[in-house]
Formats: sequence, structure tokens, C-alpha cells
Amino acid sequence: MKKIYLFGNWKMNMLPDEGADYCRSLERRMTGSFYSADLVNICLFPPFLTIPATAAALPEGPVSIGAQDGFFEDRGAFTGAVSMDMVREAGCACVLVGHSERRHIFGETDEIVAKKMHKALSTGLTAVLCFGETLEEREAGRTLAVVEEQLSSAFKDVPHEKAVRMILAYEPVWAIGTGRNATPGDAQEVCSYSAERAEKEFGIKIPVLYGGSVNEINSRELLSQSDISGALVGGASLKVESFLAIYENYRKL
Ligand code: PEP
Repeated sequence: MKKIYLFGNWKMNMLPDEGADYCRSLERRMTGSFYSADLVNICLFPPFLTIPATAAALPEGPVSIGAQDGFFEDRGAFTGAVSMDMVREAGCACVLVGHSERRHIFGETDEIVAKKMHKALSTGLTAVLCFGETLEEREAGRTLAVVEEQLSSAFKDVPHEKAVRMILAYEPVWAIGTGRNATPGDAQEVCSYSAERAEKEFGIKIPVLYGGSVNEINSRELLSQSDISGALVGGASLKVESFLAIYENYRKL
């Protein structure tokens, strides 16, 4: 039975009290033998100011906390930015890098994403590298070329010994928050390409998650694909029931 990564990106939702309530509810509902660390790895990604309250209420078991972003400089005149060591000191084990909303709303380029990757890994964090094509790029038949560009830029100069703390998340831009997920076959094709590309670069197997409108109905088929190791979930992670059902509906196969 493969281990599943179930990662929940809360985006700009959840006040500190709501984050703590969520954790209490998670603790009550994570019952059953399949909530063991060798079967599932759950990570919650609250907004920065909700991290401390959520971290303090985090349930026992295979649950950790991550940040949605982190800057590539350590300190200085970078108003509004949060450094990777601040993220780590707040109790985060993980950080998202290059999420589609950071790239498309906040203008992050492949170069910025690569700098953030390096800083996250050198700070001792697990970096979840998000990548994926736009609808226009998919329709032009450029999906794998775009993915290749994003991966090769982010992989460049990453020391091999640090790659063990890397996780990939294929998130087609057109599938994020739209209710339109990639077909399991299409998601598998890109995840398989990405897994092979990472293995060629670093000589190790790196987990590849799929993200983009994952819910409790489509998760079974998506998570059953051989090269999809888990899900990065946005909207459906905001309620404990719908978040856990994504995993439970797969595990009860
Ligand atoms: C995301 O934010 O990474 C995401 C995949 O969102 P959603 O599940 O809402 O499409």
C-alpha cells in the first residue's frame, strides 16, 4: 500500500481561532488504523498569522504544518516578506514554493521560484515545488515543455543531498479552484514525466502530488495512479470532513 501525502493549502482563509478549532476537529475524526505515519502524511498550510495557533493545537499523529510561501533573503529591507528561518522557527517543517497564485497574481518568475527553493532547502525545510501549465499552454500542446522549463529552472544547482527534502506538486493552472480537475490519465502522464525527470537529476525517487480541484469524489481515481503520491488540496481542505474524505475514499478502495 503506498503512502499518501495529503496536503491542505488554506490560502487566505482561517483566522487563528478557526485554525485551532480545525485541529481539534481533525483530532476527533482521525480514527481508524489507516491514520498511521507509514500510510499517510498530512500537512496543513495556514496563512502566516494563523500558523502559531494552528501549530499549538496540532493533533498527535502524522500531521505537520507548513507555510504557503517564504522569501529568499534572510533579513533586511523587504517590507511584507517573511524569511525561511522565520517560517521554520514558527514550527513549520515544510513550505510551498512557486504556487500558481504566487506566480500569476504576485508575479513570481522561475528565477524567483528557484531562489526560494534554494533558500528553503538550505534552511532545513521540506520544499514543495508547485508547477504546471496554463490552459493556453495545454491547448497549444506545450504542457510537457512548460513543465520541463519549470522543473529544470528549479532543479538547477540544488545539491543532491538536499533533494531528499523536495516534494513536487503538479498543479495545472486551469484546474486550481475551478472545479475542473485534470483527468487521472493526464495527471498521471505529467506526474510520471516529473518523477522520471527528478530521478534523472538527483538519482532518487521524489514524491509527486497532484493538485487542482481534488475532492472526495475524484480522489480515488487520481490517487490510484502509479506516479501520483498524494494531493495538494485547496478548497476541499477548508472543512475537515471533505479533507479527510479525500484520503479515506482512496484508502477504502
Ligand atoms: C491549491 O490551492 O493548490 C489548489 C489545488 O486549490 P483547489 O484544490 O481549490 O483547486
